[in-house]
Amino acid sequence: MLEIEDLTTTYGPVRAVDGVNLTVAPGAITAVLGANGAGKTTLLRTVSGLVRPRSGRIRMQGKDITRSPAELTVRGGLALVPEGGGVITELTVAENLRLGALWRGDRADRAHALREVCELFPPLEQRLSRPASTLSGGERQMLAIGRALMSRPRLLLLDEPSLGLAPMITARIMQVLRDLRASTGLTVLLVEQNARSALSIADDGVVLSLGQVVMTAPAEALLTDEALRHAYLGF
Ligand code: ATP
Repeated sequence: MLEIEDLTTTYGPVRAVDGVNLTVAPGAITAVLGANGAGKTTLLRTVSGLVRPRSGRIRMQGKDITRSPAELTVRGGLALVPEGGGVITELTVAENLRLGALWRGDRADRAHALREVCELFPPLEQRLSRPASTLSGGERQMLAIGRALMSRPRLLLLDEPSLGLAPMITARIMQVLRDLRASTGLTVLLVEQNARSALSIADDGVVLSLGQVVMTAPAEALLTDEALRHAYLGF
């Protein structure tokens, strides 16, 4: 689904992503882990076309998207849930959701996508006409994910969806991602500092440090191997 080859993204002299190689199979959930400043956000922003890489190549379903702008990668089936969700608090829940499918021409199709998101996140359905500013942190994260799903992506990139959420809400969001994969074959690239909860649903874990991949392993190995956990995840 996604092939990243020798990808480097710089901000002036900072090599935020430095020669990253990463492959994500269709229907897989891959956790990208690492400390603050490791380059996780920059990696997602580069893949989704929000930031131009300095060098390297990104392919999605075999198609080169290295220099595709974000509006084209979305049309190609990729959606990003940015850190903090990026929900527009002045708009209602329904308006935020519709934004995710604005580019889809077919009204019936958009309505169908809205129904699917409401089924997935019942708290959103009850609050469709309320301003997004009235939502709790967990509901805002659901809204951010729901908005991304409105475009019916095949590849979903999430940037720290558990940030600031209670463990129970985090567990629920992880469960939704796992269910979505099972029911639709969605491929997920999940950036998290909360390694334990990300690895609980992931197939593979990739650890970034100073922009470089320092470890790739099956999620189960990263969770159960104490030496690996200590060395790369600090718990
Ligand atoms: P966090 O968990 O804190 O979001 P991260 O792993 O997502 O960290 P990035 O945000 O990608 O890491 O940052 C990687 C490096 O790039 C850091 O050294 C950071 O200071 C730098 N950086 C990120 N964004 C910019 C920017 N817009 N301009 C300059 N440097 C930046």
